[in-house]
Amino acid sequence: MPQISDRVQTFTDSVIRRMTRISNTYGAINLSQGFPDFDPPKAILNRLAEVALEGPHQYSITFGAKNLREAIAEKQGKAIGRAIDPETEVLVTCGSTEAMMCAMMTICNPGDKVLVFSPFYENYGADAILSGAEPIYVPLVPPEYDFDIQQIEDGFKAGAKAIIVCNPSNPCGKVFSRDKLMSIGELAVKYDAYVITDEVYEHLVYAPYSHTCMAGLPGMYDHTITCNSLSKTFSITGWRLGYLIGSSVVVETAKKVHDFLTVGAAAPLQEAAVTGLHFGEEYYTELLELYTKKRDFLLDGLDRIGLKHNVPQGTYFVMIDIQEFLDLPQFQGFTDLEFCEWMIKNIGVAAVPGSSFFRENINNYIRLHFARSEETLKEALTRLERMKSLLP
Ligand code: GLN
Repeated sequence: MPQISDRVQTFTDSVIRRMTRISNTYGAINLSQGFPDFDPPKAILNRLAEVALEGPHQYSITFGAKNLREAIAEKQGKAIGRAIDPETEVLVTCGSTEAMMCAMMTICNPGDKVLVFSPFYENYGADAILSGAEPIYVPLVPPEYDFDIQQIEDGFKAGAKAIIVCNPSNPCGKVFSRDKLMSIGELAVKYDAYVITDEVYEHLVYAPYSHTCMAGLPGMYDHTITCNSLSKTFSITGWRLGYLIGSSVVVETAKKVHDFLTVGAAAPLQEAAVTGLHFGEEYYTELLELYTKKRDFLLDGLDRIGLKHNVPQGTYFVMIDIQEFLDLPQFQGFTDLEFCEWMIKNIGVAAVPGSSFFRENINNYIRLHFARSEETLKEALTRLERMKSLLP
């Protein structure tokens, strides 16, 4: 057989998405890959129905339909606190997955170093390898998931060209305070580096925490590449609509990467999604209320059962500490992945093994998500209760 690339041998497919496939095979309740089981807003769906008949059905402008870029610039300009030029500072991508990859390929030369927090959303590992970058990991230490700013400075001193900041953070639910973001931003400026942000959970930040856009901090706009998406905000993960915002220098280059990677996101879906971006503030308030309820419902249930968990400040993920199970004789030698497979088959609930997020040798966490109807969460809790009965 002719050889295939060495580069792609160094990573696996996404464990998050693999868990969905395994979950489907066994008909488990899927709390692994994070996506809602409820419908997107009616107004967006109605618009999609119109678009089905009216079009567009051919390519949109490669960099994103003009009205979508304008709507993104308008909404995110308010969040960032600055006028954003939809022509030169916004690029529409196929999900923020593509935005992240575009950001990395836009700024990295082979061998460049990039700082990545650990635990991290697993795409960043593959993004780094595919763009030729070498990750330097900075621990976010459980249970608070705090970091040591000195380690970030050390990374920049070692030549890191960028740092990836997922805020709110998948999988640990950390929301970075304005002060913490400032301290990271100041270092990025001092060492003339970029901050690549992943802000797809920006609207899922629970009181008393609040979301700060890195790009809006003093002096940070030109140092920040903001990656975001409409997936979580409008419950349309399957539409694969994301975007990147940055200085025109960055965006004009990212446009070339995008042009040859995907040409463009689906035109009819871009058109329908504009409707969502025109929603008023009340939409985001209701979305947050909905997720706050779901979070409280799941966390209360976990407390009742007695499963140890963190309290996410943002996102729709919760980390469960499974050490007490791994200590049982029947799980001796189990990896967290094997534990998750056991859970799918025997408990009927799918989770993501924590090791797919941690660089360190940490195997005692699993991640659940709560973007599910209350009924589904209730059934998941009933099933999880059975797990607890294994304990002495
Ligand atoms: N961000 C979601 C998760 O971590 C899934 C995103 C994806 O699979 N593209 O589960």
